[in-house]
Amino acid sequence: MASPLEDVLANEALLKDLVSVAKDAALIQGVLMRTKEEPNASEVVSYAPFTMFPSPVPRPLFEQAKQVQRDFNLLVDRISQDTEFLEQALASTIKVDDFTAQLFKIYRQVLQEGLSQPIVLGMNRSDYMLDNDKDGSTSLKQVEINTIAASFGGLASRTPTVHRDGLEVAVVYYRNGYMPQNYTEQRWEARLLMERSRAVKCPDISTHLAGTKKVQQELARPGVLERFFPDDQEAVVRIRATFTGLYTLDMCLAEHQGEEGDRTVAMAIADPDQFVLKPQREGGGNNIYGEDMCKVLHNVKESSERTAYILMDKIRPQPVKNVLLRRGAPLTLSTCLCELGMYGVYVRQGKEMVLNDCVGHLLRTKSTEHDDGGVAAGVAVLDNPLLC
Ligand code: ADP
Ligand code: MG
Repeated sequence: MASPLEDVLANEALLKDLVSVAKDAALIQGVLMRTKEEPNASEVVSYAPFTMFPSPVPRPLFEQAKQVQRDFNLLVDRISQDTEFLEQALASTIKVDDFTAQLFKIYRQVLQEGLSQPIVLGMNRSDYMLDNDKDGSTSLKQVEINTIAASFGGLASRTPTVHRDGLEVAVVYYRNGYMPQNYTEQRWEARLLMERSRAVKCPDISTHLAGTKKVQQELARPGVLERFFPDDQEAVVRIRATFTGLYTLDMCLAEHQGEEGDRTVAMAIADPDQFVLKPQREGGGNNIYGEDMCKVLHNVKESSERTAYILMDKIRPQPVKNVLLRRGAPLTLSTCLCELGMYGVYVRQGKEMVLNDCVGHLLRTKSTEHDDGGVAAGVAVLDNPLLC
């Protein structure tokens, strides 16, 4: 039996109508993006790519993501204040990853000079996929937390109306969330200047470091979450429930210490389809899968270069069918995977948390042909959860 989606697709006239209404609604709502051809033009824009239909998300998992967001806000903020932890967690990474090393240099300098501003503003987005277990159950698993480049907040709040074909006119400003990795020397100087200034930074340098993938992997070690929530075992349980397997690729620093990293390499090469290899990069398109992962691991396994990566269990969401509306792309039914993001905001003044909230969500959907990549990278498109 054909699904309702397939029925719509089979009816060419209806499909054409729906698509043009949907695209108009996106334009009217200000769900816009600059074009690839004219990335700097303000005269030419198009709709930001989006799904024709919302995608089902189980309500309990959506609620779970919402509830754990305040814990994640606290966690990120506490990590950012724990110099000893950041030093230890990132020690191996900064030896081989120049970008993180530059951030760390600025961090050390401002630490030494003392705080220029006691108010901290944090805005982050914790991303999840709904993992399908062999027993048929589904669970919320964190992909990563973005403490910088937590983009699309401005558009996410507008897409529900697009799916409802609303007609309200709105103007939107949004920030394309690319985190440029090709900082020039001048830009590093500018970053240092900002960190030393009295401005309220978002994120400040320590919160930026708290959101690195290496820190994410270190948090999954036994006992580490307890360090940040010594009196709140329930928060530890809530956070840990969203973790999937994360593994270090650290080298042997002292006797026996590198064995864990060696085990990770062997485990990944033996069963590459179960894992994702991630470098310390942001913005999509950097992760390594399958045979490529084996090749990279074979090349770096004997050198400290391998510590620029972490290994993670592959999360396996249930594929769903949808039509991805993207400028110039043909209208076809795609098999898709969804990624749910929750936005967190907090403000701390000195030692006192004066605001700690979950302030919204984002659903991004991509065709299963793509392993990686976000909306700005042209792979994922904006979507809405249909709570079920
Ligand atoms: P980035 O900083 O580039 O956004 P992510 O960790 O979010 O890095 O990975 C990019 C994309 O790769 C994700 O949006 C997701 O589609 C996919 N991905 C990342 N980690 C996993 C995982 N553990 N299992 C399955 N897919 C993953
Ligand atoms: Mg991401």
